This record gives sequence, C-alpha cells and structure tokens, in this order.
Amino acid sequence: MPNTAYYRLSLTLLQQLLEGAGYDNWIAWLNEDIRLWDENQSTEHHLRAYGGMGSFNDVIVGSNDTQGLWKGRVFGMIQSLAYGLAQKNIDTAPLDPSFYGSASEILSGWRCRACGHAIITEIQLEQYLAGYFLPTFMVNYLKDDKLSELLAVENLINSVEVVAKREAIGQLIQQSNIELTTNNQWLWTCPRCQSSETCSYRWELHEDGTSLLEAADNLDML
Ligand SMILES: [Zn+2]
Repeated sequence: MPNTAYYRLSLTLLQQLLEGAGYDNWIAWLNEDIRLWDENQSTEHHLRAYGGMGSFNDVIVGSNDTQGLWKGRVFGMIQSLAYGLAQKNIDTAPLDPSFYGSASEILSGWRCRACGHAIITEIQLEQYLAGYFLPTFMVNYLKDDKLSELLAVENLINSVEVVAKREAIGQLIQQSNIELTTNNQWLWTCPRCQSSETCSYRWELHEDGTSLLEAADNLDML
C-alpha cells in the first residue's frame, strides 16, 4: 500500500471536479479543509460540510449525459472517501469496493402498461454500467496509486471491459424486445400506442450475463 496522503488528495480531487461548475464557495471551503489538515490534521471543518439542506452531499456534479453521469458518480465516490477518512481522522483509504457503492444487477427503464412496450434509455444503461464498474475501478486505482486518473472519465467509459459489457447488455436488450433509445426524456406517453399508462420498470441482469429478467416488484400490465 503506497504512502499516499489520501485525505488531502481526495480534497484536491473534489476541488478539480467542482471547477467551472459554479461551486466556488465549496472550492473555498475545501481550501480551508486542506489548510486545517496541513496545520494540525483537523478534519472537523470538512465534516461540518455534510448533513442538512444545501450541504456538501447535495452537490451535483456533471451534466445529463454519459460523461456527466460518470463524472457525477466519481465525485460521489471521492466524496465518500473524503468523508470516511475525515471521520476516522486518517489517511489510509478503504480497499473494499462495497465502501464506494454496492454493485446492483438492476437495470431500470420504462414500460407501457397498456401495450407492454418496453424501453431502456442509453443513460439508464450507463447508470447500470457506472454502478457496476466504478467501485472496483476506484479500488484498483487506489491500489495502483493513481487515483487522480479516475477523473479522466472518458478513459473509463471507453475502457475495454466497459465497452464489452455495454455491447453485451445492448444485445440482451435487443433480444428481450426492449427498445434501446437515445431519447432521455421522461416517458409521459407510450411511443407505440400513445397510452399515458407508462411506468418505470426494472429488469435483473443475471450473474452469468445471459438473461434479462423482469424484476418481481414491477407494476402489473393492464
Ligand atoms: Zn403502449
């Protein structure tokens, strides 16, 4: 395990992710956190950023597209790291992926309860992929002492394993007669039958990656 000062590093990475997003107050707050850590290893000021309305955990980073989604998830994980280290007043990062998020096998989409037409948007697929891969990427980057490279989200999005999984799930979606669409709007009406009986819907991806099953907690068809 390298001797990286992860608490301080996590604060500077958060600042980089906040740059240009209209969060100058939080960047200044983090500057103060860094100063207090350098001076007397105090994390109390950073911990005060969390909890309550308008607090640091309400900050949203990243736009409503693939890159923004991954960037937002990376921000959340580094936030968890900073908070976790601040609580324990330590510098050693946890190396259990579950600390940074639990891998879910659930893929979310839409369903028309009138005609059964099913849709998954590309962003919903990316939500699944980011949730599936990022906690492990985080731990691997920590182990390789290259955490700051996690900010280059394009490299994560285009990595061999993510591209392969994206393609494999894309095929499963097609085989399951689900429409994969780039339209990320809220689905008020069914594009096939125009019914307004649309609902959000969930599918479970099985471990072996060969089947997509309707989750048990979905609304029934009409
Ligand atoms: Zn329909």
